[in-house]
Formats: sequence, C-alpha cells, structure tokens
Amino acid sequence: MFDILIIGSGGAGLSCALEAKKRGQRVAVICQSNPTNAATCMAQGGLNGVVYTDEIDTPSLHVKDTLKSSVGLANEDRVTHMCEGAREDILWLDSIGMPFSRKKDRIARRKFGAASQDRTTYSQDYTGLKLLHTLYDSCLKEDIEFMNNSFVLDLIVENSTCKGVVLLHIDTGEIKAYKCNAVVLATGGYAGIYHGFSTNAIESTGDGIALALKHGAKLSDMEFVQFHPTSLKNSSVLVSESARGAGGFLVNDKGERFVDELMTRDEVSRAVFLQIQKGNKVFLDIRHLGNEYISKNLPQEKKLIYIHEHLDPSLEPIPVSPAAHYSMGGIDVDENLQSSINGLYAVGECSNTKVHGANRLGGNSLLEIVHFGRYLGKNINEVSLHVEIEEHEKRVKKELFKLLSTKKSDTFFPLRDKLGLELFEKVGIFRDKKGLREIQDKVEKIHNEYNQLSISDTNLKDNYWLVSHLKFANSLVVAKAVIYSALKREESRGAHYRNDFKNMDKQAKHSFVEYEDIRFKR
Ligand SMILES: Cc1cc2nc3c(=O)[nH]c(=O)nc-3n(C[C@H](O)[C@H](O)[C@H](O)COP(=O)(O)OP(=O)(O)OC[C@H]3O[C@@H](n4cnc5c(N)ncnc54)[C@H](O)[C@@H]3O)c2cc1C
Repeated sequence: MFDILIIGSGGAGLSCALEAKKRGQRVAVICQSNPTNAATCMAQGGLNGVVYTDEIDTPSLHVKDTLKSSVGLANEDRVTHMCEGAREDILWLDSIGMPFSRKKDRIARRKFGAASQDRTTYSQDYTGLKLLHTLYDSCLKEDIEFMNNSFVLDLIVENSTCKGVVLLHIDTGEIKAYKCNAVVLATGGYAGIYHGFSTNAIESTGDGIALALKHGAKLSDMEFVQFHPTSLKNSSVLVSESARGAGGFLVNDKGERFVDELMTRDEVSRAVFLQIQKGNKVFLDIRHLGNEYISKNLPQEKKLIYIHEHLDPSLEPIPVSPAAHYSMGGIDVDENLQSSINGLYAVGECSNTKVHGANRLGGNSLLEIVHFGRYLGKNINEVSLHVEIEEHEKRVKKELFKLLSTKKSDTFFPLRDKLGLELFEKVGIFRDKKGLREIQDKVEKIHNEYNQLSISDTNLKDNYWLVSHLKFANSLVVAKAVIYSALKREESRGAHYRNDFKNMDKQAKHSFVEYEDIRFKR
C-alpha cells in the first residue's frame, strides 16, 4: 500500500515525488511509458525566474508581467507565490545537478516574449530534457518507486473521495487496483487533441482531466488553449520563443515584417494566422544571428528544422504557422492543489492553478511544474479510508472485456484526424457561435462512430492500440469541455478570441464545466 500515488512522470510529478519522499511518504510514480517520456522533455526555451538579488529584475516585475499577460484571469496570490519562490526553485535545481547554461559565474538568462527583463534560465535549447533527466536521476537516488508502462484506466472514487486507481500494466496485460491515501494527477495538458495541428506529442490527450471530470471534479477555463506562433509549417514541430527572443524576425513572402515579434503569444499568433488567411506565407528569419550563435544556443532547433523542413536556418528563412501548444485550463484546484474531489490533487499542466490566466507567459510553465510540484509534495494531506478495491478492479475489467468482445473492429485513426482538423478550424485562433455549434454536433457524431468501434487485437499484453484507443475516448471528453467553455465565454480575452464577441467584459470571470454539461448524447 502506498501513501501517495502520483500519475505522471513529467516535471510536475517528479518534483512532487522528491519532496513527498523527503517527508518520509511511501510514494510511487505511475507513467504510461518510460519515465522520461513526457512533454517536459520537449521544452526547449527555458524556465523563468529572478535568480540574483543584485540585478534590476525583481520578483514583483515577474508578477507584473505574468498578470499583464494573463489578461485579468490569474490569481495574484498564487502568481506571487510562484514568482517569489522561483529563485529557491532554480537554486534547488542547480544544486541537484541541472546543467543550466552559464554566463561567467552566473546562471544565464535570455529574453522571452512579453517579458520586461531577460528572465528565462535555460540549458541551451534542451531545457526540458535536462530538467527532467536531472529530476529523474534524483528520484533514482532517493529510491522512489516507478510503475512504468502502466496506463491509468480509472480512479477509485467513493462518496466524493478518491481512494486509489486502476491500472493496466501494459507489459504484462494485468489490470490491477491500488489503494492509497492521496492521488496526484500530473498527467499533462490537452493540446495534443488538436491532432495534426499541435506542437505536443500524441500522448497529450488530457487523460487525467477526463478521468477527474467523469468522477465529479470541476474543470475551469478549458477554452484557453494557447497557440504558439512559430511551429514548423509542415510538421507543427515547435521553434521556441528563444529564436525570437534572440532577435528572430517574422516576415511574410513579400519580405514585410507585420508584427512586433515579442508581444504576447496570443497577439503574435493572431497576426501570423491573419497573414496566412490572406494567402501569404510566413517565415521566421534568424539568418542574421549567424551560424555560430545558432549552433551554440539553438542546436536542437537547428537539427529539428533540418529534419522537418530540410533547410539550414542560418542560410534560409524558416516556414512557420501557429499550432496548439499549451492548455491554460484544466482541473480546478484550491490553494492546496486539491480538486473538488477529496484526496484527488492535480498539479502541472493538467491543473488550473490560475497562474497563467487567459494567456501563459513563455517560460512560466516549467517554473509552475517545479514550483507547485514541490509545494504539493511538501504539503499534501492524506486521508486513510476503507475501500474494497477488488470491486473496482472487477468493474473496470468487465468494461474492458466488453469493448474487446465487440465484433465490429476498426481503427479510430481517421476519427482522430477529423477531430484535430475540426478543432483547429472551429475552436482555433478565432472562434464564433456558428462554428462552435457546428463542431459540437460533429464531435457528438465522431463520438457515436467511436462507440461502434472495437479492437481486433484482444490480448491485453503489450496492446498499445488498446491504450491509444482509450486515450482517444479521453480526447473526446476533453474536446467537448473545451467547446462547451468556448461557447459559454461570450467575450474575447487572451487566447480565446470570438469573432462575434470581439470586446472584453469589464470583469474577468473563470468558466467552469462539469460532466453533466458535456455527457455523451446519442
Ligand atoms: C514542444 C514544447 C516546448 C515547450 N517549451 C517550453 C518552455 O521552453 N518553457 C516552458 O515553461 N514551457 C514549455 N512547454 C510547456 C511545458 O513543457 C509543459 O507545460 C510541462 O512540461 C508539462 O509538465 P507536466 O509535468 O505537467 O506534464 P508532462 O510533462 O506532459 O507529463 C505528463 C505525464 O503523465 C503521464 N500520463 C498521462 N496520461 C497518463 C495515463 N493515462 N496513465 C499513466 N500516465 C499518464 C505521461 O506519461 C507523462 O509522464 C513546452 C511544451 C512543448 C510541447
């Protein structure tokens, strides 16, 4: 029996695990594949924070920039908590071996969009990768238990209290229920549901969010999906903001610069998208930075650009377009990071800690996952309650065997493509009531088609098709929550831009969604 089960081995999950273990808790981290296979590894640009007290930058300037970018929707207390704690978090990372890039004797910092100071710490452009490997190494040193290749099928919730989880151990095919005193969802964001139009990996389907919602947790601000202005045109692979921060220009095919590249991401994305809608091509031009600078500071980006666009960014401009990148909304949590279900906590991109509001500042997510991951590990409350876990194991097995015994079998892949395209077109950078109503109906149809499908491989062992199939069901739930919330918000604010409600309401309000609001209708 574990005290705490942490679902997700990204930066949020591992930061939480390290601090909880320090308090003597018996912790296990569950991840659907290998521990370092998480979105955190993909982060290139950096992690924000004021590190030195003898420079111009201060935590209050960081708070000010974050609140401005959030367009009134962030919680000032939590933003202050995060920005004031950043120094200690960065020095902690440094102390456990994070190989930050350095300038002379100091941790180096660079400029990111909408930041008033050069405040983003980094490790070349492998920041997330180095961060996650450093955390994972520390977890190994601390003997933290991992359950790899273990997919969370369901939560065990009784009387509004979470008492454990049911897992599919993919390697063995075993379905097993686990009891614990607290469950932490650290399952990452949902921008991957914009399949084909997202910088995220296909695994970012918002599983924890869908599971929590089904069991009665509230979600908030789900309509706020951040589009990144510079993803590679043919693959949606990200070119980090560090390229614009270093002085990269955005130009159209007439050679015109059409936007201040360092405005907030929502503004730059809209400007890029409007160019594309006019029939113009858009390029990120970093040739003037020179090969030496690019190879030294942006080596990963250079490689990815070569692999996906077959060009050398020191010689040619890079074709780009916006893609879904980050989810500001998620599981609504209180100041202790507890969801509306007792004993069920959420941290990282799957949660809405309300530090990003309507528009996240680049570099603030890596800070959030480390800061609030650690905070939760230090403060989590446990409730030990009785539960008959075998009943839950039987229930989940029965549901799964029903799916596997259905005669008709087909792949959901075309439905995933369809959902991604529809979301990009109708719940994308610009939205309106007509498009949102249309997609609401279309998603119901997709869901109906999905419910007719089964899986031809009926083995439970190593059945990755089954796992992807189940993850698509989570995508559908999350997509409905995004559409529902986008329809409800009749204003334009940050990343949510309504062509039919272009103005912003005087008062900023959070939006909420519950399972009853989006339940599948036949
Ligand atoms: C390309 C890219 C570049 C980025 N660059 C930056 C940057 O420079 N700076 C910045 O601040 N932010 C950046 N971000 C955002 C940032 O990386 C993420 O918001 C952050 O890493 C999320 O961390 P997390 O721990 O919440 O989740 P993740 O790192 O996504 O981890 C989620 C974990 O949950 C597990 N999981 C999910 N579902 C299940 C399930 N059903 N069962 C079991 N396990 C499950 C996964 O296996 C994984 O281990 C970037 C994002 C991307 C995609």
